[in-house]
Amino acid sequence: MGRILEVLKNKKVLISDGAWGTFLQAEGLQVGECPESWNETNRATVLKIAKSYIDAGSDMIETNSFGGSRLKLKSFGLEEKTFELNKLAAEISREAAGNKIVLGSIGPTGKLLMMGETSEEELYEVYKEQSSALEAGGADAIVLETFTDLEELKIALKAVKENTNCEAVCTMTFDELLTGGFRTMMGISPADMLSGLAELNPDVVGANCGNGFENMIHIVKEFKIAGCELPILIHANAGMPELDENSRTFFPETPDDMGNKLNELIDAGACIVGGCCGTTPGHIKKLVEVVNS
Ligand SMILES: [Zn+2]
Repeated sequence: MGRILEVLKNKKVLISDGAWGTFLQAEGLQVGECPESWNETNRATVLKIAKSYIDAGSDMIETNSFGGSRLKLKSFGLEEKTFELNKLAAEISREAAGNKIVLGSIGPTGKLLMMGETSEEELYEVYKEQSSALEAGGADAIVLETFTDLEELKIALKAVKENTNCEAVCTMTFDELLTGGFRTMMGISPADMLSGLAELNPDVVGANCGNGFENMIHIVKEFKIAGCELPILIHANAGMPELDENSRTFFPETPDDMGNKLNELIDAGACIVGGCCGTTPGHIKKLVEVVNS
């Protein structure tokens, strides 16, 4: 049995970490700079981010590898460093986590299968390489996150299952339809995701990004109505993005705003909860307090 399922036997709710991307930007990551290169050039800062979430009380942390696939790194001319940068990402989070859980983060490649920009074979090799590198660096589980294309997610999940001993967490990003209900940009509902992934045996499913807790409560209900019996993980944004007076994006929900809705999200059926864009160690600390009270 994997680490996450093992810990869930003794603890009803686990708290995950908060944002990495917006945190790296706050630490000086420039637009157009490769976030994963910081695992080598700014190790101390990446370690600081990882530690800040552990210090906030989270049960698990991710790795700075969301865009670390060979296809993404290629756009920075860093494709030859794919294995190394992912392994470093996991080693840094492992150092911060101690014996807590490390989730190796993998995002989509950005190449569209249906447009012929990549092939199933290429995607399989790309996800095999990245997940193997994260496992080599000490990841307990792989979180395939922010996916919108079910076919790409299936290939990624297959690659993780066939080439690593890591637990596989799958989360997609859903948008609210004007008519009610939720779909990814590619038209996939939580029910489609569940049935599409079923035969590949994901260990945990859920949703990340694109929504605050309010919408995530509805998404969790959709998973449950579809018969989901797997643990459900939610990485929610700090509310829906808004623009400030300088037209810069910001996320409005405070730690208290999120803390106040946590119990409703758990009652709906989520058992692993953390943050995505705009969430900070302060948000995670609040979630930990609510769970412990
Ligand atoms: Zn996000």
